[in-house]
Amino acid sequence: MTKLIELEQDETIKVSSNVLKYLKPNVIYVPFNDAKALVNINEIVDIGTPLFKTSSLIITSPISGKTKSFKPISTINGQKYALEILNDFEERKRLEPIKKISLNNIKKEALEKLLYTQFNLDFKDKNILILNAIDDNIYANTSSFYLLLNYEGFLEILDKFFKIFTLDKIIICLKETSSENINKLMECLGMYPNIELRILPNLYLLGTNSILLKYLNIPMSNSLVLKTNTLYDIYNLIKRNRQKTDKLITISGNGLKNPSIIQVKIGSPLKNLITDLIELKDPDVEYIAGNLLSGKVIDINNFIVDEALDSILIMKKKSPTSEKACIHCGQCLNICPVNINPLLLSNAKYKNQVKDICLKCGLCSYICPAYINFNKYLEGEQNV
Ligand code: SF4
Ligand code: SF4
Repeated sequence: MTKLIELEQDETIKVSSNVLKYLKPNVIYVPFNDAKALVNINEIVDIGTPLFKTSSLIITSPISGKTKSFKPISTINGQKYALEILNDFEERKRLEPIKKISLNNIKKEALEKLLYTQFNLDFKDKNILILNAIDDNIYANTSSFYLLLNYEGFLEILDKFFKIFTLDKIIICLKETSSENINKLMECLGMYPNIELRILPNLYLLGTNSILLKYLNIPMSNSLVLKTNTLYDIYNLIKRNRQKTDKLITISGNGLKNPSIIQVKIGSPLKNLITDLIELKDPDVEYIAGNLLSGKVIDINNFIVDEALDSILIMKKKSPTSEKACIHCGQCLNICPVNINPLLLSNAKYKNQVKDICLKCGLCSYICPAYINFNKYLEGEQNV
């Protein structure tokens, strides 16, 4: 059984349940990397205009406006090239490229194909579906908010999936701290006898699909785990016949007055969003993209909210703790949920062997009394 721990938490950081909106940015950036461009500079585009094509999907425009340039931007996954589009705020919509879908009469094979091609979800030979609404980041509520804001539609879709794919079970997983969601679901689940609610303890990493399955003792071979952001995209496509144009992120931490969930247009510049919606407590803060334990300190200039970004933490700057010599206490080894020996990460051969197993969870650095930062060794430095 994987060892899991509850992280110490600053109880004064509370994310408001009042969702803020940032859906009309002046400009957005659409990263493309190796995709083939389908538009040129100075072209008028609508919401839904195909912009790029990869081997498996078409990337469409989240706004209507005019293409301005191709330029480098920063994302949670590093530097990328992106198409800059100036918003004309007309919200023109391109005719939806996907025919309206009715879950009442769609054939199993057609739905299977749609979910595979659009969302990379393979329902073949699966009999258990799990909705993972757990946030690993202690100060973020993005996953649970997708459920809270859309629970009626989500339950309807999950119930249809149960029938169409003749599943044995659907389980919604929530943390015990997610009380608003638990109350809402308790009120409605009587109407959905095929859907079960599992309330789990507040342990770090249960939001990671592979760890969640191990915890529930459910084999990977016959189960499919859906994250709530993916179900939100499926819900928009199938029930609302809408393109993917927005997402939720949490902006939280001890350096701002109003930790919030924000519904944001995909591709918005982070700095503009923070300037417009966030009140800092202190000018001396740092911005962390992702999880407190394993996220990256970023420069918000030129950084965009892309599909992979779920949370930004704004934290008061601490005086840096300097690394000391290892005291061989063994805690980093004991805490690693996938049994890696962090002390051996200085060995290039060992690091190569374990780099795909490592969850980049940051627990080894979190627990170390000598403040050794294993993240930087994982990213390339030698000598622990
Ligand atoms: S970051 Fe990697 S090595 Fe460190 S505890 Fe997590 S899984 Fe183990
Ligand atoms: S937790 Fe830190 S001090 Fe303890 S064995 Fe690991 S690296 Fe050394």
